[in-house]
Amino acid sequence: MKEDILSYNLEELTERVVALGLPKFRAGQIYRWLHKVGVTSFSEMTDLSLSLRERLDDSFVIFSCSIEKKQVSAYDNTVKYLFSLHDGEWIESVVMEYKYGHTICVSSQVGCRMGCRFCASTLGGVVRNLSPSEILSQVYAAERDLGVRISHIVMMGMGEPLDNFDNVMKFLELITDENGKNVSMRHISLSTCGLVPRIGELADKKLQLTLSVSLHAPNDRLRSEMMPVNRKWGVSQLIAACRGYTEKTSRRISFEYALVRGKNDTPACAEELASLLKGMLCHINLIPVNEVRETGMRKSTPENVKRFESILAAKGFAVTVRRELGSDIDAACGQLRRRARLEQNVENEKP
Ligand code: SAH
Repeated sequence: MKEDILSYNLEELTERVVALGLPKFRAGQIYRWLHKVGVTSFSEMTDLSLSLRERLDDSFVIFSCSIEKKQVSAYDNTVKYLFSLHDGEWIESVVMEYKYGHTICVSSQVGCRMGCRFCASTLGGVVRNLSPSEILSQVYAAERDLGVRISHIVMMGMGEPLDNFDNVMKFLELITDENGKNVSMRHISLSTCGLVPRIGELADKKLQLTLSVSLHAPNDRLRSEMMPVNRKWGVSQLIAACRGYTEKTSRRISFEYALVRGKNDTPACAEELASLLKGMLCHINLIPVNEVRETGMRKSTPENVKRFESILAAKGFAVTVRRELGSDIDAACGQLRRRARLEQNVENEKP
């Protein structure tokens, strides 16, 4: 089987290149083509001889995403891609335009096994993990297609990044490499549903990224109902892990809270959330839940959102309501892949 060359860092690539009997400096050339330019074939590496390009092609494969479907929001230029992978699996990525630059939301797994009740990505379970190269290639494919530089990355697409820990860490190493795209770690956010031991492992790495924690409820009763992962690691364990994370990294955590009408959007919930997070270095991001038909969860009313926000703001929390981008193009988690699969009858609808 050909080796996945795009998942190698420069050191590993150098080893492979030397093992093929080639001079060391070739590795730097190849790495630059792969990660700085972002080519999808060896034939594009024009400063290498034809025979060398053919030899590389015999040993390695460059994984790339091909565009299965692309939707552009008429409101705000948000672009949503449905990419197909080498084995025919589909993943989604979204590119958003902000004043400070382009941000991509990447997927880390095909599907997801976390089972959050409001989320479309998890409806069909997990199919497989993405390799580091497959996470990278979402960024490279979008840059190529749009002709822009992507400066910010959020790991908030399909999948649970901490459930694919090693590949995600390798992706972070490669995307921030100064010999590659050189994206600043400070411009990367990683979102988790709360795999507590993995939050500890991440803290030990002391990365300068922003950790987003999908909290969504202030107590075990509500959170376990919305997020099965909470039955394994409850709210107090999660918050303890978050406090530990901040202590180790000095980084502010961002708590995500999706507001579901009549469920977790009451003033009592806001008060409970405030006491839970009291004294923490954090930011609270409120998101009126995106309605996914199968989940039956309804979006909070604007009045409830406002009221929830005011209670937290009055207690001194840094709180924002997430601007909805791409609402006309199914830009919420897993919705595009799910719809496309339903159209093809690949996935049976769940009640
Ligand atoms: N698995 C990771 C990252 C992927 S989801 C996590 O759970 O954090 C990215 C964010 O979108 C999470 O906060 C998730 O809870 C949220 N999300 C999923 N479905 C949603 C929906 N229908 N409406 C609003 N937010 C949703």
